[in-house]
Amino acid sequence: MNLLEVRHLKKYYETHKAVDDISFNIAAGSIFGLLGPNGAGKTTLLRMLTGIFYPDEGEILFNGQRFNPQHHIQHIGYMPEERGLYKKMKVGEQTLYLAQLKGLSKKEATEKVKYWFGKFDIHSWYHKRVDELSKGMQQKVQFISTILHQPRLLILDEPFTGLDPINSELIKQEIFELSQQGTTIIFSTHRMEQVEEICDHIMLVNKGKKVLDGAVTDIKQNFKQGLFKVGLGVMPNPAQMATWHFDIIQTHDKAFTVKLNEDSSTNDILLHFIRQDIPVIYFEEILPSITEVFIQQVKQTESANAPQPIPATPETDL
Ligand code: ATP
Repeated sequence: MNLLEVRHLKKYYETHKAVDDISFNIAAGSIFGLLGPNGAGKTTLLRMLTGIFYPDEGEILFNGQRFNPQHHIQHIGYMPEERGLYKKMKVGEQTLYLAQLKGLSKKEATEKVKYWFGKFDIHSWYHKRVDELSKGMQQKVQFISTILHQPRLLILDEPFTGLDPINSELIKQEIFELSQQGTTIIFSTHRMEQVEEICDHIMLVNKGKKVLDGAVTDIKQNFKQGLFKVGLGVMPNPAQMATWHFDIIQTHDKAFTVKLNEDSSTNDILLHFIRQDIPVIYFEEILPSITEVFIQQVKQTESANAPQPIPATPETDL
């Protein structure tokens, strides 16, 4: 079942098409990565999903109903990239206030704040002013403020920026826990290694258009290039290697990255080693990283959209 269905969404800034006819679904309970280079349209898209902007065209369905910010906003938690805490306000007072804005009673808000401050071991920050906290500490408070009301849809824009490895890990584990409890999560970032680790589905946008949309495992399968890494017990000699009928892409210490060609199979490759009595220690498929897919796709759309050179005017004989 889809928590979000987005159909032909468009948003223009004057004539600039920031989001240009984008459609996608987000399955309930999934962790959905929204990727794209700078200026691709991610923030504009997220602002429409959170009711900050109205789309110029298209529609958003939230849990099967036409998205209505007034009604649905209580089910959404949004942590924008530019963090939005009131600097002069005390941390505890502010989190209570933000939780009540999202519809919790004072009693519920107090219980939740107590629970999360305990979980993150930050009770001692309760009476501090926000501007007395470091950037990373403020970010933890902002994360708590975003999830206090147990949103069904949690939208995190670059949630790890400015966090040290320990706090990044803490937030990452919370993301997994919330996902296991059924929260649907949209995660926008430029950090590709986090996408592979965290997301089960990604959508890549570039210049306001959707370029790619699918399960991370399917995308890796679709973009694979027939590469395998084989580890050997001994280094073969050049005479043995001269008889091999497959392409060697890279040589490592007692290992090779090889590429299947049109008329070879993995078993053909293994047979070469068996016939030459070369022990095979391991043999594994190399799938592309999401970074490689991202770069390839962005470059491909850039070159497809690049202005065509003006054909040279044929020289005429005078
Ligand atoms: P980044 O990764 O750099 O944050 P983004 O993918 O979030 O980028 P957006 O902020 O959505 O991109 O911007 C998309 C496009 O719309 C960009 O070309 C940007 O210059 C333009 N844009 C964004 N906000 C405005 C605005 N208020 N007025 C005019 N143009 C805007």
